[in-house]
Amino acid sequence: MNIADSLIVMGFILIVIVLIALIILVVYMLLFDRNQKHHAILRNYPLLGRVRYFLEKIGPEMRQYWFNSDTEGRPFSRDDYEHIVKGAKYNRDVVGFGSKRDFEEEGFYVRNDMFPKLTEELKMDKEARVSTKRYILLKDPLFSQREEKWENEDSLAYLLHDDDAVVIGPNTKHPFVLKGLIGMSAMSYGSLGKNAITALSKGLGIAQGTWMNTGEGGISPYHLEGGTDIIMQIGPGLFGIRDKDGGVDWDELKRKSEIPQIKAFELKLAQGAKTRGGHIDAEKVTPEIAEIRKVEPYKSIDSPNRFHQFSDVPSMCEFIDKIRIHTGKPVGLKIVVGGNDSVEELAKYMKETGIGPDFITVDGGEGGTGASYQELIDSVGLPIKSALPILVSTLQKYGVRDRVKIIASGKLFTPDRIAIALAMGADLVNIARGFMITVGCIQTLKCQSNACPVGVATTDPGLQKALVIDEKKYRTANYLITLRKGLFRLAAAAGLDSPVHFKPKHIMYKDDKGIVTSLEDIYHDIKWQIEADREKVNHQRWITGQVNTADTIIKP
Ligand code: SF4
Repeated sequence: MNIADSLIVMGFILIVIVLIALIILVVYMLLFDRNQKHHAILRNYPLLGRVRYFLEKIGPEMRQYWFNSDTEGRPFSRDDYEHIVKGAKYNRDVVGFGSKRDFEEEGFYVRNDMFPKLTEELKMDKEARVSTKRYILLKDPLFSQREEKWENEDSLAYLLHDDDAVVIGPNTKHPFVLKGLIGMSAMSYGSLGKNAITALSKGLGIAQGTWMNTGEGGISPYHLEGGTDIIMQIGPGLFGIRDKDGGVDWDELKRKSEIPQIKAFELKLAQGAKTRGGHIDAEKVTPEIAEIRKVEPYKSIDSPNRFHQFSDVPSMCEFIDKIRIHTGKPVGLKIVVGGNDSVEELAKYMKETGIGPDFITVDGGEGGTGASYQELIDSVGLPIKSALPILVSTLQKYGVRDRVKIIASGKLFTPDRIAIALAMGADLVNIARGFMITVGCIQTLKCQSNACPVGVATTDPGLQKALVIDEKKYRTANYLITLRKGLFRLAAAAGLDSPVHFKPKHIMYKDDKGIVTSLEDIYHDIKWQIEADREKVNHQRWITGQVNTADTIIKP
């Protein structure tokens, strides 16, 4: 027998062995499935049942990549996702051949002015520039990876003019002055990995004029890497400032407040996805995370769903005041609005006593980076477009609106959504998931599992290798700059020289019959005084800048 014949015989034997092994495996699975007691379908239809489980498992991916239309899909549609990725990768925000929006549906529109502002009439910081990198698409072949060029880019930072800078806590020892309207929502080190936090910090640092919220997990060295301003969040677990007995370590808080990058503190009463306490499994509490959070390593942590330090509005405001005095920095609250009562009580107390938070971060129920329970995610907390009017009008009613800056969050990841939030009374806007997408999130929705396939929401060192900080940081910066640019474009189209001047009258609401009402008329009954309020905002003076004008179409 020559070599060729021998190979044919060996190949044949190999195929027979593989077939026999397969038959044995199938028979074994069949017998196993028929006799197991957990799954009814497998006892009657072993093979078909397994096919069903497989299809069920790959369903989300199939829907995401094949079957959902561009505007379907939750929490972010393909269009939403691409909007963020294109801004981040290519610094590009132009689409061709018209809008995919269903104009028959009800929704909000920016009221365009017959005489929009020219670019040279826009009021912004013309001096502030950003050195970043972006991709240029060279070729997009069907069967291979697209060809792209990575090149340096020098861009306008699209920061506010000093006149329009937002000042949080103007009466504190160290007011927090912001020239960008958009910052990063709370995301802890531990829920995101160190590469993700570092890339985000560096990206925000490149973009300037913005801030990063640490999340309730305390401040890590990775938050500080990029030199961006920081709001340190304090949750009921007091991570990062707790003493051995679980109370506040005031000396540690003082030490934290002396870190120059920390500009303000935020007490987290609730967040959109998580109106509950938190839990971290023991294996995730590494010595590093334990040191950052001031807890014991490898012991599971449960944070309560309410602070032990206060139980009503007066005791909460006293606690806020104590932190403010101790640190000299502004102190705010993060809340989810469920109805009028709680904010009414707060506003009334603020009026009567003169004390209260310097800012309120209001998170819509649609917010969602924290892993949580379905019933809380779906049903607890009003969405941001309902929550904002309640909060603003209540503060107005008691005459304390001008004492508090409002930061809104809840899927405000495009310039049009941000413009609506500003018109509804927000001073600033927070984004979380939009920024996660800039560092590689592909929406597999496995954040709670520590098995994020792209190394974003995981502390697994192997998985984190996927995330290259020095590439992703530019995407974070580019996305933020395209948002700011888009906001100025919308402002120009509405006849405004800066997005800080968006007010209810600039937003029109069209119902499904085509009837149009301005937001100002909708809010008339609750007597908004946003215009008067905005006049009182503390400002400084700098220089004007340039942006392009464009369309005014916005999504609901
Ligand atoms: S890729 Fe999946 S697991 Fe990772 S951050 Fe995104 S949604 Fe979470």
